[in-house]
Amino acid sequence: MSAKIELNIPENHPRYRAMMIRHDMIEGCHNKVVAPAGLIAQGRGEAFDYLMGEKTNSFADRAIKAAAAAFLLAEKPVISVNGNTAQLLPEGLVKLSEATGAPLEVNLFYRAEGREEAIEKKLKDAGAKEIYGIGENLCATIPELTSDRRLVDPRGILVADLVFVPLEDGDRTEALVAMGKKVITIDLNPISRTPRKAHISIIDNLVRAVPKMIEYVNELKKLPKSEIQKIIDEYDNKQVLRDSLLKIADRLTELSKEI
Ligand code: ATP
Repeated sequence: MSAKIELNIPENHPRYRAMMIRHDMIEGCHNKVVAPAGLIAQGRGEAFDYLMGEKTNSFADRAIKAAAAAFLLAEKPVISVNGNTAQLLPEGLVKLSEATGAPLEVNLFYRAEGREEAIEKKLKDAGAKEIYGIGENLCATIPELTSDRRLVDPRGILVADLVFVPLEDGDRTEALVAMGKKVITIDLNPISRTPRKAHISIIDNLVRAVPKMIEYVNELKKLPKSEIQKIIDEYDNKQVLRDSLLKIADRLTELSKEI
């Protein structure tokens, strides 16, 4: 089957960006970076993005700022990369890694042949120099997990004090929290288990949230540690989750009046 798809979407289409991303994800699926189930996850994300107005809302901005602060205070932060995140924003992940000093570690749920290599290439093409969790380096295990996601790099997730797990599944998030790690996620679905288990849950699209996080990291770097700590102390993840659900409710109420 051909991997190339001819696109004819006019740039002034109201959902141009979302449609371009959708087709890029399909391309990523042909190239093995994205698993077929990853396309379903992307579709679920799109639906929640639509409900929240396809923008970074103030509750997401608060979480992004707290995440940047947590990265700056962590001793051994790690960025966990799956197929969807590698396809959606490879350069953004590399830039975040450079800004925070946190290594990139590939962690996959579906380990089809050639997939790890495809993701490694995607990240290297985007400028990544070293990538954890590849080949023989995948030799430590996370307790309490049965899927392939229990396999981790002993230099990375295993010893990390902070793990950034965008677009994650609930079981693994729970296992990382149980191991005593600080967990940050990005997930457009505030009802799913991951954002409910994580310490900092960014309810926003990865493609908007990561560039904003890099901006905050570079800005907050200039502050004294005590001020960075204050941002974390004042952060309330439960309130962020409540506000995101209320946003959906309010928007649906508004839209119902337009009909
Ligand atoms: P859980 O196990 O946490 O209940 P789930 O079964 O929904 O969640 P997955 O399908 O593994 O778990 O998670 C993918 C999540 O990522 C979904 O909640 C989806 O809404 C979200 N998502 C998909 N695409 C994006 C994106 N571009 N930006 C942010 N979130 C996204």
